[in-house]
Amino acid sequence: MTAVIEEAPDAVTLRLRLGDATGFLPGQYYNVRLAVPGRPRPVQRAYSIGSSPAPDPSLIDLGIREVPGGLLSPRLVGLRAGERLFVRGPYGRFTWDGCDTGPVLLVGAGSGMVPLMSMVRHAAYRGRHDPVVAVCSAITYSHAFYREELAALVARHSWLRVVHCITRDQTEPRARYHRRVDRTVLSESLEGIHPSVAYLCGSPAMVESVAAALVDLGVAPDAIETEKYD
Ligand SMILES: Cc1cc2nc3c(=O)[nH]c(=O)nc-3n(C[C@H](O)[C@H](O)[C@H](O)COP(=O)(O)OP(=O)(O)OC[C@H]3O[C@@H](n4cnc5c(N)ncnc54)[C@H](O)[C@@H]3O)c2cc1C
Repeated sequence: MTAVIEEAPDAVTLRLRLGDATGFLPGQYYNVRLAVPGRPRPVQRAYSIGSSPAPDPSLIDLGIREVPGGLLSPRLVGLRAGERLFVRGPYGRFTWDGCDTGPVLLVGAGSGMVPLMSMVRHAAYRGRHDPVVAVCSAITYSHAFYREELAALVARHSWLRVVHCITRDQTEPRARYHRRVDRTVLSESLEGIHPSVAYLCGSPAMVESVAAALVDLGVAPDAIETEKYD
């Protein structure tokens, strides 16, 4: 591991130099394995890649949010640069290459922003014209993954719009909404744009309710791609 970067009070990015890099697509994940005291075998969990595969697919960022009482995530957020980690991958079909094929909607809650950030970073790396609307949900603004980089990308790229939904700080001025993502949040954030594809990532409950709201807004079910963190 080459670096541990603080993303939020309860989350880090683990930057890994892969020994054997096969390349990956934005949106994919790696399985991480770690020995846990009292467990006969290493414990394995899936973690999405937050970095772009370009220019160097052998350097990957995994975004980890600590789940209190969880077996692996509290240990992962406590790791130090220089430690070795066993990972296997990449896996997953929740992918988008950033190409211009119409407007794209990204909706992520908490660590669900990780694979969506890989997509945004890759789109910025490749260059883009069609709009990308990213709706990011977090409990407070300081818990929002990648908030500063997203603000910097919005300032540089007219194709990117970022909307923050903050659920537990009613006074946060950088949030457009102080509640969870719902049908009104989605329709107002899209501002008349009809997404050709939507990528939703987060808890199963959040993904299912956002998918239902999008169908209600006229997005075709087969244009909705989902990744559920359960
Ligand atoms: C495809 C995919 C990609 C993912 N990507 C990411 C990512 O990028 N970032 C990220 O942070 N997460 C991601 N996840 C979630 C991640 O894989 C783990 O599920 C998460 O980190 C929790 O793992 P854990 O070992 O810490 O918790 P676990 O040990 O699995 O526990 C999870 C929950 O269950 C509770 N629990 C555990 N044991 C018991 C028990 N005996 N009785 C009652 N409750 C119990 C814990 O308190 C905790 O709330 C992803 C998941 C999937 C499927």
